[in-house]
Amino acid sequence: MPAAASASPEPADTSRRVLWAVLVTLVGALLATLVWLAGRQEALHVQSDLDRDTSAAADDIRAGLVHRAQSLQALSADGGRRAAWSAQASQLLRDHRELVRIEWRTEALAPVTGLDSPYRSPVFGWLPRSDTLADVQLACAQARRQSQPAYSQSYYLPQLDGIGLEVMDLCVPRISGGTVTGYVVATYSLREILVTLVGPQLTRNQEVSFTEPDGTRLALHGTAQRGRRTFTSQQLMDLAGNTLVLRMNSWRGAPDPLPNVLTALVTVMSIALVAVLAMLSKDTRRRVRVERDLAEALAFRKAMENSLVTGLRARDLQGRITYVNSAFCAMVGFTAEELLGQSGPAPYWPPELADEYQTRQEVRLAGQHMPPREGFESVFMRKDGSRFPVLIIEAPLINAGGVQTGWMSAFLDISEQRRVEELSRATQERLQATARLATVGEMASLLSHELNQPLAAISSYATGSLNLLQGGNAQGLEVALQRIGQQAERAGRVIKSVHDFVRRRDQTRESVAPLRLIEAVLPLVNLQARKLGITVVTRIAPGLPPVLCDRTMVEQVVLNLARNAMQAMDEARTARPSLTVQVRRLPATEVAGPGWLEFSVADVGAGIAPEVQERLFTPFFTTKREGMGLGLSLCRTVVEQHGGQLVFEPNPPQGTIFRFTLPLAESPATLAAAAPAEPLRIP
Ligand code: ADP
Repeated sequence: MPAAASASPEPADTSRRVLWAVLVTLVGALLATLVWLAGRQEALHVQSDLDRDTSAAADDIRAGLVHRAQSLQALSADGGRRAAWSAQASQLLRDHRELVRIEWRTEALAPVTGLDSPYRSPVFGWLPRSDTLADVQLACAQARRQSQPAYSQSYYLPQLDGIGLEVMDLCVPRISGGTVTGYVVATYSLREILVTLVGPQLTRNQEVSFTEPDGTRLALHGTAQRGRRTFTSQQLMDLAGNTLVLRMNSWRGAPDPLPNVLTALVTVMSIALVAVLAMLSKDTRRRVRVERDLAEALAFRKAMENSLVTGLRARDLQGRITYVNSAFCAMVGFTAEELLGQSGPAPYWPPELADEYQTRQEVRLAGQHMPPREGFESVFMRKDGSRFPVLIIEAPLINAGGVQTGWMSAFLDISEQRRVEELSRATQERLQATARLATVGEMASLLSHELNQPLAAISSYATGSLNLLQGGNAQGLEVALQRIGQQAERAGRVIKSVHDFVRRRDQTRESVAPLRLIEAVLPLVNLQARKLGITVVTRIAPGLPPVLCDRTMVEQVVLNLARNAMQAMDEARTARPSLTVQVRRLPATEVAGPGWLEFSVADVGAGIAPEVQERLFTPFFTTKREGMGLGLSLCRTVVEQHGGQLVFEPNPPQGTIFRFTLPLAESPATLAAAAPAEPLRIP
C-alpha cells in the first residue's frame, strides 16, 4: 500500500474507531444505569419495608394504647371501693411496664389515691405532681367533653437519678349515672411504650422514636448505628388530645456495586458481549485484510493478463470456450462475448481447415495425445477474414483438487516472426550475391598485389638487359633473360594460385626443402635490399627435413614478410638495416607433435605500435600510402591453411620478428592437412 495510506488513517478506520467508542460508552452507560437502578431498587425496597414496619409499629402502639385505655376504663367503672381499685390498678401496673403511675382523682382532680409502678421509683418524686396538673386538667376537660379517654401533651419529668423521662397522661372519666364522678389518670412513659408495644423484631436493627410534629425528639428506643446510610419513615399518631409522630430510622449499608445476582449476571453478560464483539471485530479485520489481499492479487492477475501479448484461452472438457484474455480477442478480432461458450467450429478457424481442426480438437479432448511441449503451429482467421500463423502451446487445466477440468492454450501470433524470417532470407541471398561480387574484386586486388613483384623484377631485369645491350656486353644478357623468363613463369604461377585460392580449390601441396623455398625468393629480396642498402642474413640449419606446402603461396608469405620488414626499416631510416631470415626445427617441447619447422623474418625497424598491432591482420588495413593492407591477412590465411600459426613479437633492442610454422612432410599434422581441406576463407 502507498506510504500515504499509513500516514493518514483511512475513513473506514476512523468510523470504526468512532463506532467502537460509541459501543464502549453505551455498554459503560448501561452498566452504570443498571448498578444505579439496582441500588435505587434496593433503597426503595428498604424504604418500603421501613414504611411498613413503621406503620405496623404505629398500629401496635395504637392497639396497645386502646387496650390499656379499656383496662383503665374498666378500672374506673368499678364501683367505689378503694381497696379493690388499688388491687386492680396494682395489677395493671405490674402487667404494663409503660404505665408508671395510676391515680384516682375526684371530679375536681383532687387526688383520691394513686399507685406507682413497681418497676421503678415514683416518677413524681423530684417534681411535685401539682406542677404537672395543668396538662392533666386539659386532658380531663377533653375527656369530660367527649366522655371518653383523652391524652395530655407529653412533658418531661426530671428524676431523682438524674435521668428524666418523657411522659404523657391519659385521663379516663369515671361516669356514673351519666355524669362524670371522677377520673382515672394514668401516666405513660413514652420510652416504655416504645419498648413494650413495638415488637422486638422491629427494634432490633432500627431506631424507633416519638417526636413532636416539629421534629423535637421525645423518646427513643433502639440502637443508633452511625456512619451508614440512614432510611427514615414517620407515621403520625393522632391520639385523642395529643398528636405524636412515630419515627423509625433504619441503617443499611450503601448498596454494593454488584448488589444482586441480576446486576452481576448482566455485567458478566455485558463483558462477554464486548469480548465477543472484539473478537468479531478482529475477525472482520482479518477478513477485510484477506479480502484486500485477494482483490489485489486478482487485480494484479487481471493486469498481468491484460498486458500479456500472449493470447490465452481455456476450454472445458466438452470443448466449450470458458475464458479468453484480451490479447486473444485482439489477435482474432472477436469480442470475449462472441467467443465464450462457443463449442464446435470456432469463428476464428479458417473454413477450409475447420475439419482438420475439429479432428485435432476431438483428439485433444479425448486425451489420447498430449500436445507437444514446444507447441505446434497453426493458422487462424481474423474476423475480417485474413489468415495469420499462430504458435499454440496447450496444457491440461488442473483445478485445486488435482482434477482436470479442461485445457489451457497459449497463442503467439507469429506473423511478424515469419515476416522477419522472410526478410532475413532475402537479405541473406542478397548478401551472398554481393559476396560473390566482392570475391571478384578481391581476386583482382590479390592479383595486382601479388603480380607487382614479378612484374617489377621483370622490369628491372629488362632494364638491366637493355643496359647490357647498350654497353655491348652480351655476356650477362643470357642470365638476365633467364631471370625474366623465371619471373614471367612465376607471375603465371601467381595468377594460377591466386585464381585457385579465390575459387577455393584445394591447393596442390608438395614436399619442399626449406632451403629451396628461401632460395626461390632470395633474388627478389636481394634486389630490393640492395636498392635500400639492407644487409640480408639467412640462417638455415643444415639437414632440415622438407615441409609439405603450397610452394608458391609459402614463397609469397616469405616474400611479403621480407618486403614488409625492409619497408619498415626504410621508413624508420635505421642506421644499419639488416634483415634476418631463419629456419629452424621446433623442439618437441615447444609444439605438440614432433614435426614442425619455424620460419622467421626479423628486422631492426621501428617496431609495431600497439594500436597498429590490434588491426595488423585486418584486410585492407595499412599505414602506407601505397599499401593495400592485404599482405599480412593473406599470409596468416595461407599459414593457417597449412595447419601452422603466424605470430609476431618485438625484436630487441628494436624491430619486429614475424614467425610462422609449417608441418614436416611426414608429420601427423601433414597427413591431416592432406585430407580434403575446408574451403579457404577469403581474408
Ligand atoms: P601493406 O604492406 O600493404 O601495408 P600488410 O598487411 O602487409 O599491408 O601490412 C599491414 C601493416 O602492417 C603495414 O602497413 C605496416 O604498418 C605493418 N607492418 C607489417 N610488417 C611490419 C614490420 N615488419 N614492421 C613494422 N610494421 C609492419
